[in-house]
Amino acid sequence: MNCPICNQEMKKGYLFTTKDGAFSFADAVPRMLQNARTEEGFIEITPIKAGQRVHIEAYCCETCRLVQFRY
Ligand SMILES: [Zn+2]
Repeated sequence: MNCPICNQEMKKGYLFTTKDGAFSFADAVPRMLQNARTEEGFIEITPIKAGQRVHIEAYCCETCRLVQFRY
């Protein structure tokens, strides 16, 4: 995969979290005590898997500081 900004080949790897994190997307960041799934526009990006760091295959361009992934 090539970088959409500089068009150089991107490095393939994994985006991963600290040991208890997971990524989601929404219209706004839910408050700490709110159930995140109730936020408007909620999309689960990385499900939590017991005994593993949450991770997703990703491509990185260090020059542009861009990380891309499909979920
Ligand atoms: Zn780039």
